[in-house]
Amino acid sequence: GLRRLAAGLRVEFRAARTDRHGQQHRLVLGAHHRLCDRGRHPVHHLCHAQTLVARPAGRRRVRPLPLGGPGCPDNPDSPDNFDGFVRTNRSGRPGVTGPIGRSIAGPIGSPGRRSEEGTTEARFHRESGKRETTDQITNKPTTMTPKIDRQHVAQALRGAYDRVKNTTGGKNADYIPYLANVPSTLFGIAACLTDGTVVAVGDTEYRFGIESVSKVPTALLAMQQYGAQEVLDRIGADATGLPFNSIIAILLENDHPSTPLVNAGAISACSLIKPVGDRDGKWQSILRFVEALCGAQVGVIDELYRSESETNFNNRSIAWLLKNYNRIYDDPDLSLDLYTRQCSIGITAKELATLAATIAAGGRNPVTGEEVFRAELTPKITAMMATVGFYEHTGDWLFNTGLPAKTGVGGGIMAVIPGV
Ligand code: GLN
Repeated sequence: GLRRLAAGLRVEFRAARTDRHGQQHRLVLGAHHRLCDRGRHPVHHLCHAQTLVARPAGRRRVRPLPLGGPGCPDNPDSPDNFDGFVRTNRSGRPGVTGPIGRSIAGPIGSPGRRSEEGTTEARFHRESGKRETTDQITNKPTTMTPKIDRQHVAQALRGAYDRVKNTTGGKNADYIPYLANVPSTLFGIAACLTDGTVVAVGDTEYRFGIESVSKVPTALLAMQQYGAQEVLDRIGADATGLPFNSIIAILLENDHPSTPLVNAGAISACSLIKPVGDRDGKWQSILRFVEALCGAQVGVIDELYRSESETNFNNRSIAWLLKNYNRIYDDPDLSLDLYTRQCSIGITAKELATLAATIAAGGRNPVTGEEVFRAELTPKITAMMATVGFYEHTGDWLFNTGLPAKTGVGGGIMAVIPGV
């Protein structure tokens, strides 16, 4: 089902601007998926990055940039569906891909391409509908007009939805009794663009258990409070290659819980959240942070919280095993309870899409305009998602889609395309 869903997705972003030398710069970002002729496999089409500069005289220079991103088989018949954000350097030559191109065109989480002259920052201007960019060297603002085709995104979602709506394979997670009884016919897809536009199809207002998707906001909050390096040092950022609740992973890596995106690392991240030792204060920090990210009031589904608290024996072992290795930084039971509560938050697909868009927009919620976290954390969290967002199946997912994403046993999947 996921493969077929991925196969139906086609997202594209175009923008153009003219710089002060009169040169026109075009930006085309795209994630395209289709079934390839051979083997009926969805092929991810973030294949070619091109710098395309139309000169005033009409002469065009096309310079392909090797992409190097994940899941991008070199496909000769791929349209020029992806581009970096280009500006000219002082000598008038095309030079830089900025954060937009960098976020997607470079390996996820990499520092991206830079020219000798630095990078260009981009921020979306809600009121004017313009993307405002600031040259970090000259500090002069420039603008380019985004041409996101909302209709195109809507069509892509509808196409993906229609393609998989009759897929009935798989089954509900039932080790948490509440989840076994969630109607499995529910299905919806929502996309939030970084201009705040939300496009949705299907059951996108239903509140389902966020479950492990909550590991993403808590990892972000821990990095916001402690800095990315300290979270790397205290928890880690590695794939385990093992199921989400693996105890063996802790024994094998007794030095680290691997990553905040598996149960062990997520419980450890909950233990880090400030104010340490204050159960209610910590919970409020997490809840408020999730609300700021998704721009909506959310709450715990009490029945789910009870159901999981009564049956989470494996997670109890994890919490105490981590304590044994000094990887719990608060009371183990308190940390576990926080983790269970955050997993029981009810969320809709639309809210999850906004949460993803806030990450994609470098920490600024595109719907509310609130600055929720520091922009430098976006490549950190997308690196974690790309590494282990689907646990032991992350490679297959990334190979097929190229999208950093996070799953939850409540049925949610959240994917981020930074900068689009
Ligand atoms: N709360 C669930 C657990 O800890 C989350 C698991 C998941 O979504 N993968 O088991």
